[in-house]
Amino acid sequence: MPALNIKVCLLGDNAVGKTSLVRRFLDNVFEHRFAGAIGFRVNRKVVIVTASSDVVEVAMMIWDLAASEDLDQVCTSYLRGADGAVLVCDMTRPETLESLRAYAAMMSRANPHARFVVAANKDDLLPGPRLAEAQLQALAAELRASYFLTSAKTGDAVEAVFRELGRALAN
Ligand code: GDP
Ligand code: MG
Repeated sequence: MPALNIKVCLLGDNAVGKTSLVRRFLDNVFEHRFAGAIGFRVNRKVVIVTASSDVVEVAMMIWDLAASEDLDQVCTSYLRGADGAVLVCDMTRPETLESLRAYAAMMSRANPHARFVVAANKDDLLPGPRLAEAQLQALAAELRASYFLTSAKTGDAVEAVFRELGRALAN
């Protein structure tokens, strides 16, 4: 079976649920605690995807930023060598979608061939202010990315986000 090693970065504003999505994907758990760690955390998970009729084993090195998540504080070393990014916004905070363009631009400067997938997270939180799906669609189209409405809490579409990025990179 062809194998591929990829580096994936989580990008998005503070508290959109990046760490929670990674936790859900890796260990299938959700914690309400706000875990403010320091530095980067790197995890590994293998997914099997089908890319242009080939079955490919994709080993994902998943990088999650811990503390300072301001745009200008995202270090070059975090993005260096990354093949793609999961861009995360919060369904209940429309302004977090606007930031994704800047994160994507930053990633593309580090790697012009980087692929993206957009996760609009906290889709379980209803009712309240909601991000407009049309805007989500527009951004995804602009980045030639797929988007998913996710919930790290329920697990909805979390696996799909990571698998889709793996599939896109295996193609
Ligand atoms: P990060 O700063 O982007 O890594 O965000 P965290 O993963 O630390 O999550 C921030 C807060 O949002 C925490 O209190 C999480 O429990 C909560 N959270 C994350 N994802 C979800 C979700 O899908 N649904 C709900 N209801 N809360 C979430
Ligand atoms: Mg985090």
